[in-house]
This record gives sequence, C-alpha cells and structure tokens, in this order.
Amino acid sequence: MWDVIGHEWAVELFSRQVAAGDVSHAYLLCGPAGIGKEHLAIRLAAALACTGLQPPCGECANCRRIQANEHPDFRIVRGSNGTISIDEVRDLRRFLTLSPYQASRRIALLVGFDGATVEASNALLKSLEEPPARSVLILTAASPQALLPTILSRCQVFHLRRLSRAAIEEALQVQHGVPAERAASLARLADGNLAWAVSASADAAIVDRLEQDVSLAIDLCRHGRAHRLSQAEELAKREDLPQLLQAWGGWWRDVLFTAAGQGEMVSHVAQREKLASMAAVYGVQQALEALRSIEDALDQIDHHVNPRLALETMLLRWRRQRENVSNQEGR
Ligand SMILES: [Zn+2]
Repeated sequence: MWDVIGHEWAVELFSRQVAAGDVSHAYLLCGPAGIGKEHLAIRLAAALACTGLQPPCGECANCRRIQANEHPDFRIVRGSNGTISIDEVRDLRRFLTLSPYQASRRIALLVGFDGATVEASNALLKSLEEPPARSVLILTAASPQALLPTILSRCQVFHLRRLSRAAIEEALQVQHGVPAERAASLARLADGNLAWAVSASADAAIVDRLEQDVSLAIDLCRHGRAHRLSQAEELAKREDLPQLLQAWGGWWRDVLFTAAGQGEMVSHVAQREKLASMAAVYGVQQALEALRSIEDALDQIDHHVNPRLALETMLLRWRRQRENVSNQEGR
C-alpha cells in the first residue's frame, strides 16, 4: 500500500523497480511545495526495505520502523533553518558506508536539498560518484535548478507535478473529514498544494492571508512606480516571499482565464466581479505578461538574485490600472 495522493506514474515506476530489484543508487524527487514529495520519499524508502509481498506492505517491521523514523538503516536529514550543512552530509556519508543491520540496504533521505550549502553539495557529490555498496540516497527539492548539475546527472530524477483539484478535494474529504463544499473551495484555492489545503482546512486565518495577499496585488496595479518600488522594498523582507508570489501567480492566472473566456477554470470563484473588471482592463496579453513576470521573479530568487531587485523588476512589468484619467501619478 503506497497510500500516496497523485503521482501515480512515479509510484508505478518505483513499484516496478523494487519488484525487479533494479534500484538506483540515488533518486531526486522534485516539484513544488506541498505536493507530498517527502511522504512519497518515505514510502519509497519503506518499499526498498520491505520484506512483505507487496512493498511497501506497511505491516512488516521494516515498513513500520521506517514510517516511524525508528529504523537503524534509515536516516532523514532535514537540515536546520532550511539549510543542510557539510557536517550533516559528512555524518550521513559515514552512516551510508556501514553495513545494514536489518534491511538489505542503508537508505538516507535528504529533504529540501536545494537548501544545501555548496560545501554540503560537494561533499554529497562524493557519495554519488562512488556510492557505498548497498546504499540508496533519496533527495527532495522544490527547484532542481538550484542543485549542482553534477548532482542532477547522478540521480534518477522524478519531476513531480502539482496535484489535481480533484485529488486534493478527495483527500480533504476522505482523509481529513472536510465537508464537501469547503473541500471543493479549498481545492480550487490550493493551486495543487495539498499541504496548504490541509492547513487551511484547520485554520481560517490561512485563507484570510491569501485574500489579503491578493488584495495587495490588486492595489499595486492601481499605483504607479514610486509606490511599487517602496512596496518592493517592504515585501522583499517577507520570509514567505515565494508563497506570496505563488499567490499572485494564482490571481493573475485567474485574470488570464477570465480574459480568455474560461471563467469556469478560476480558483477565486468568490471574486468573479473583480476578476472580470481586471480582465477587461488587462486582456489576455497583459495578464500573460504579469504571469511571466512572476515566474521570472521566482526563478531569479531561486538563483539568489536580490529579492528586492527581482520584485522591482517584476512589479514594473505590470501595467498600471488607472481608475480615472485625472488621477495621474508619476510613472
Ligand atoms: Zn513491508
């Protein structure tokens, strides 16, 4: 029982590899936040150690211990403050070179390896170039672009996609007991991020926060250059900057859908009026341009461009929405 939401193709491929004993030395599971990369990685680790008939059976001692993170041949490294250090990688390399006690191999999971330091990446590279016998490394990362190409080339890479609305809606209802209508509404807003939807189902402040962030984007559109630049300075300090940009991306995508006459696709169903008025002003081309500006900013932040600079460049690409012609602020 994999017990994984979505990612059917990856589960099928893992199952076939485990059944055939054709296992890679290193796997990289990459994809956006909240889609269950770590969960899938732990299930893969269990499958690699499982002694049941259909790995991961979830019942044998290896499966249960890995699931509880109490297996002597399995280790998870999450790093501290989002960073994985060279000491943590060195420690892990020692762990991998020892013979397994209970399972047929030693398995290490490095969560969020895009947050590893360059020194840590180089240290890990040695384990990838000369993998210790009977060891498997599993890495997860939101953005593979942030990893050394030499690491990418030595891993079997799985590009996992955002989860479908239907998958999130079902998981909310079946696994978390969320009422149908609320599950549908959260699944729309979640933009493929199941972890966000689950948190939001338990805490109304999370949806409020998303709505505030969207209001901020709408407000920025109505202001000129000076206001945008001062806002960029403030917003660049936000620790959840990537999430803010994702939220704005979700909004502009809705504007794009509305402008393109695909209103049934929108996430922010409660804000159809605002979407219609922005779609009328911006049209498909300008909405697309705003969406691209956000993707570029996210990409730049991934590549360690100064966040303020990335935000400034992005915001200046959004055309100004003038409510009336007499209200001309310098641009
Ligand atoms: Zn098992």
